[in-house]
Amino acid sequence: MDPISELVSAFKNFPGLGSKSARRAVFYLLKQDEDELKRLGTLIATLKNNLKTCSECGNLTYDDPCPICSDPFRDRRVLCVVEDIESLTAFEAARIYNGLYHVLGTRASPLEGKDITNEDAKFLLSHIKKVNPAEVILATSPNIEGDLTRYSLLDILKGLKKVKITRLAYGLPLGGSIEFADKLTLHTSLEARRPIS
Ligand SMILES: [Zn+2]
Repeated sequence: MDPISELVSAFKNFPGLGSKSARRAVFYLLKQDEDELKRLGTLIATLKNNLKTCSECGNLTYDDPCPICSDPFRDRRVLCVVEDIESLTAFEAARIYNGLYHVLGTRASPLEGKDITNEDAKFLLSHIKKVNPAEVILATSPNIEGDLTRYSLLDILKGLKKVKITRLAYGLPLGGSIEFADKLTLHTSLEARRPIS
């Protein structure tokens, strides 16, 4: 395969890119000068250099603790538990939340053979103990795995007496995921969050 076809077929594997978009992306690259191509190539080649998991919240980061955990202007009274980095990124991109996060990095999904392990539970509990927030928001996805994950989390957090535990309100499209929710929907579901008793 020539480099152009090879790159097209590599781009086709990107989430959300079909054959047509993959070809367009490659033609876009063909129009760039050598320096820009080198810059992009280096960016990709070194993307994972020094990339680590934040030892406090589980976010992906080049500095530990991550910029969110080490930001003195974030509201440390609220801790939002999300399933994955994509959910965190969706909240951050929407600019609707200024508290801290905890990235589970997993979810309860019998179909995918995934679950919240004892290690995950310990990591979450130690984070909560360290931050000592007044509220923990369970921002799991509005689908079956999200519900299962929330139940597991409730079980893990049941010993915490002084922390208010809330969940996102409905309004998020059922069966969808936080990652793809639009800003307004995400904002509403966060603002209308309710306590879980
Ligand atoms: Zn962090």
